[in-house]
Amino acid sequence: MERFDAIVLGAGIVGVSAALNLQKRNRTVALIDKRDPGEATSYGNAGVIEREGFYPVVFPRQFGELWKYGRNEETALHYNSRFLPKIVPWLLKLRAASAPRAIDAHAEAMNPILAHAASEHGVLAGKGRAVEFFRGTGWLKGYRSISGFEADTKVHLALAKRFGVRYEILDNHEITDLEPDLAPVFARAVFWPDTVSVASPGGVTKAYARLFEAMGGTFAHGDALSLRRENDLWVVDIDGRSATAPDVVVALGPWAVDLLKPLGYRYPLAVKRGYHLHFKPRGDAVLERPVVDVEHGYVLTPMRQGYRITSGIEFDDRDAPPTPVQIEKILPQVRALFPLGDQIEAEPWMGARPCLPDSMPIVGPAPRHPGLWLDFGHGHLGFTLGPATGRLLAELITREMPFVDPAPFSPTRFR
Ligand SMILES: Cc1cc2nc3c(=O)[nH]c(=O)nc-3n(C[C@H](O)[C@H](O)[C@H](O)COP(=O)(O)OP(=O)(O)OC[C@H]3O[C@@H](n4cnc5c(N)ncnc54)[C@H](O)[C@@H]3O)c2cc1C
Repeated sequence: MERFDAIVLGAGIVGVSAALNLQKRNRTVALIDKRDPGEATSYGNAGVIEREGFYPVVFPRQFGELWKYGRNEETALHYNSRFLPKIVPWLLKLRAASAPRAIDAHAEAMNPILAHAASEHGVLAGKGRAVEFFRGTGWLKGYRSISGFEADTKVHLALAKRFGVRYEILDNHEITDLEPDLAPVFARAVFWPDTVSVASPGGVTKAYARLFEAMGGTFAHGDALSLRRENDLWVVDIDGRSATAPDVVVALGPWAVDLLKPLGYRYPLAVKRGYHLHFKPRGDAVLERPVVDVEHGYVLTPMRQGYRITSGIEFDDRDAPPTPVQIEKILPQVRALFPLGDQIEAEPWMGARPCLPDSMPIVGPAPRHPGLWLDFGHGHLGFTLGPATGRLLAELITREMPFVDPAPFSPTRFR
């Protein structure tokens, strides 16, 4: 039995960041995962650290929009009709949490931690070998119609103004001045210069994990579901032996509920599945930053592996086989936007965004188990927020003054 101050379960961006932040506070830490670090959801995302991510995911309220998504033909959203009855109660919670009157409070709660998201990455990247993946070129959200631009941006831009987050509204010509290889398909775009992105989110997560080990941390393969309580300590089986500690952090992303349900916690965690696929550029075409095609619900971004297209949301069982219809449908739109060359992999990658209905993660102590700490449910913003919530959780565990108010992320808020 190997004794640690803390065990972190899950080596995605959230768990690795929590482990590093605990280590920074002189805790001996075991980081445990079934797989190598950064190989699940944290591998395949769009790698964007969204400074302006304080606008929540909103459930459509107008009949026209509901009808549009209900037909299941939109590229931004796809659902398995057999799964619909299972997801409806969660969608109703999302509808309530994203009512127009709730948006302001959500943005006020999220803005302080988002203001630290890039700098908390910077702290970890600066010490490890991850700096080479980062680029400070902002990101571009493009709208094919003026009406789409106006409908989507009004409240968001007003909030950005209030929080002092910089943006520029670009017209058709200004967009191609910034990205000359984009076809002039967007009527308007919002350029967010303070958003940072990376050329390999999996590479960044692995670099952080290597830093953790280089600083004396223990990474081991093991099944989090072997967690149990013995003599007032937590115990997990790893690599044919056991690790034990007074504190354990659940950072299992979409799999957190597998561990928490048997302990009696019923968190409303849904998954929004998403896909990616890489392409070579045609000729010497280049893109300097991630581009969102808002109306078609995809991101096109330069990665180490090639140009990565990430899809919108798919509602289906977390473990059901992939159905990458959205990627197939958006390809003609992407090709009309940017000169794509050969497809790099045969099949798209699939991941699952771990989402709570109020679009905020759970960070803090589990209500009924001493020494059990929760850090999951980062939804669309897990790569953005992993290092910042890792710091917050480490401060809560070590009883330091938290750098942001932890109340909005409280594990008791869904009671
Ligand atoms: C298509 C797509 C695009 C996205 N784009 C962005 C973006 O641009 N910016 C952004 O901020 N976010 C983005 N996200 C969201 C982001 O990827 C996630 O929120 C984030 O990766 C979640 O990280 P995590 O560490 O909580 O989960 P994960 O990375 O999934 O890590 C959980 C870990 O738990 C391990 N695990 C599971 N079960 C067990 C077990 N029983 N025992 C041991 N280990 C176990 C897994 O192996 C895994 O390593 C995107 C997501 C998708 C799908």
